[in-house]
Amino acid sequence: MTTTRFPIRLDPVRGEAFDSWIDAYAQRLLIPGRDLAAALGVPEKLVRLRGCNVAKGDPNLDPEQIARRACGIDPAAVRDLWSGLSRYDRLIAEHLARAASCPGAVGWFARVLRPMVSSRWCPSCLHENGGRWLAAWRLPWQLACPTHQTMLASHCPACGGTQRNAGLRAKYVPDLLTTCACPTAGPAGHLDRRCRHDLTIATTVARAPAALIALQAEMALILDTAVTDEHALKLIDRLVDLLIIATRVGLDLRAIDRDRRNMQKILTGPLAEAHAALSHPTGSAMRAIATNDPARHPGALPQAWDGVSPELAAILLQHRDRLLSPTKRLRYHSMTATARGLEGIDLTTRLKTLPLALWPDWSIRLRPPTIAPDTFRIAAAIALCLPGSTDALQTISDRWPGPRNRQRMVMFGRRVTADPHGTAILAALCGLADHLDTGGAPINYERRRALAGEIEILNRRAWRVICRADGVCAGLDRRHMHARLWLWETLTGGLPRQSPQTLRLRTPEFLRDHARFALALPATTARRLNEHARQLLDAHGCQREPIAWSPRFTDIDPDQLPGPDPDAIAPRAVHLAIAESRTARHAADKLGITIAHLHYIIRVHPSEIDALTLSTAAPRVRFAALLGADKLTQLIDHGTSLRQIEATYNINRRTLHDELVTHDIRVPPKNRRTRLRRNPRSTDCPTNPDQDPLAEEVSVHL
Ligand SMILES: [Zn+2]
Ligand SMILES: [Zn+2]
Repeated sequence: MTTTRFPIRLDPVRGEAFDSWIDAYAQRLLIPGRDLAAALGVPEKLVRLRGCNVAKGDPNLDPEQIARRACGIDPAAVRDLWSGLSRYDRLIAEHLARAASCPGAVGWFARVLRPMVSSRWCPSCLHENGGRWLAAWRLPWQLACPTHQTMLASHCPACGGTQRNAGLRAKYVPDLLTTCACPTAGPAGHLDRRCRHDLTIATTVARAPAALIALQAEMALILDTAVTDEHALKLIDRLVDLLIIATRVGLDLRAIDRDRRNMQKILTGPLAEAHAALSHPTGSAMRAIATNDPARHPGALPQAWDGVSPELAAILLQHRDRLLSPTKRLRYHSMTATARGLEGIDLTTRLKTLPLALWPDWSIRLRPPTIAPDTFRIAAAIALCLPGSTDALQTISDRWPGPRNRQRMVMFGRRVTADPHGTAILAALCGLADHLDTGGAPINYERRRALAGEIEILNRRAWRVICRADGVCAGLDRRHMHARLWLWETLTGGLPRQSPQTLRLRTPEFLRDHARFALALPATTARRLNEHARQLLDAHGCQREPIAWSPRFTDIDPDQLPGPDPDAIAPRAVHLAIAESRTARHAADKLGITIAHLHYIIRVHPSEIDALTLSTAAPRVRFAALLGADKLTQLIDHGTSLRQIEATYNINRRTLHDELVTHDIRVPPKNRRTRLRRNPRSTDCPTNPDQDPLAEEVSVHL
């Protein structure tokens, strides 16, 4: 009999279970199911197992052989009898094994995901197809028939028994395809005593909720071998998501253990509600479920949500965004469309791509007016360590290469959150961090910081050479220090106040003067300083790096941001405003921009305008452009008379007096000139221009 080719064929029904097909075929051939299975070449071991195991098949099954012996039916249709369910079972086992590490609800899901020992049924389907049982009816969450829109039956209305638990029959022709197969009590013997209640008659037609039908329809392909493993896995992820949501709307998985007969009832309501909510991810139902969290300091993704798919994690985080602290919002990207769980970033790699202060153009775009520019740039740069990071704040703080201030960071978080553009600012920071992670930065800022700390960036001689080539005055040590600090800023992307103490004077006005120096730096000198920076970089292994850089990415709507587009203003307008204005504040006000914006434009487009050549410039402006507070102080200290200064710079006494008062310079006593005349080495008769600041100025500018 084992090599028999049967004269009758019975094609499998779409979605039919393997055990059902054998039984239906055996009934047609009028032989016991086990005999048929053995004759078709089904391994003996499998034949003896329970119906559920037969339905899942076995790797040793040969669909070609079975198809050949079963009167040449389609081998693919034979394989489909078990391969869909066995693949589902394997993928679920893998998913549960992956989720085993999370202590949340997923561990409990095996009982609502793994195929059941018994099978549910749709009375109408059984009636229409003459007793063919579908593999999907063994899935615990398969609660309704999408075709007939009714709930499936799980227990015989007459005896309360479950169906298809037993394996293939050994002695009897399987005639129980549409009737209850539960044994009934009676005298022992060879009689086949069964309940035999007609299962195709539904006692009460229970309409299934629409949301539940939608869920079953969505999962229709989960056992279909025509879809790829990847697609099946997506569906399983979705199913697990629905179950996790169901546990948040009243599903008690332990109740199923206590009352397995009522499993269908326990699952129906919560699963339907979960599907309705997840079908409108941005809707109010989903929002209520996602934010129903009694914690005073809510976590981004509390333990109850362990094991959700990345898609659901994104939905949850977006809903929970406003509950979270700015640190968590940054970590989880929760205000963006790419909200996600923490994958953990390599802080060392991220730090290489970060300067000590946020790039000035990004600071102009992102800074809320309530935070000072320098504070914002420093805090925002530190904040860029957060997106995607699992590192504790303390770790980030410890590893941050510059000075940090915890209070300042807290204030940054509060004020950004309070700003009407706060969400857009945080989203932009997340976008910048992503941009750095995917594209990297062409500058290794860590190496730059180390380099700038190890070498002499600009020695006195190099500075003199630069100035001589440009025909400008090298000035005193102070000017050299400013130039060196300007180069340090260029190389490291840091702020002057973050530079090593050796590059600064310990006077309160030094940084203020440095800002003036930077604004007044002629284009030719800036160009030569940049050339000097290029040579330094080339000589120290940074040939491939640009001198300066700033991330460019366009996935951000500039209208959402608090600041203007830094490059929207014409550089020429900025140059003119600076040349014509008494102070940087006046120039910025005239243009309606910030001083930080002014500095940015001057860095990117150094001014070609010489303040002295500007016919419209007021005498005091021209005077201020030539003579800073330092030099004016030095001239007075060297004994230069006010009259001499007036004559040299073509200004009147009143302007000079105003300038002295502005800079808090003591007006020299009237009799000083007479006293100083006795000293022939004084500035009245300068012989060495290097020792005489006024002579230097005059020789260069006049
Ligand atoms: Zn049906
Ligand atoms: Zn029964």
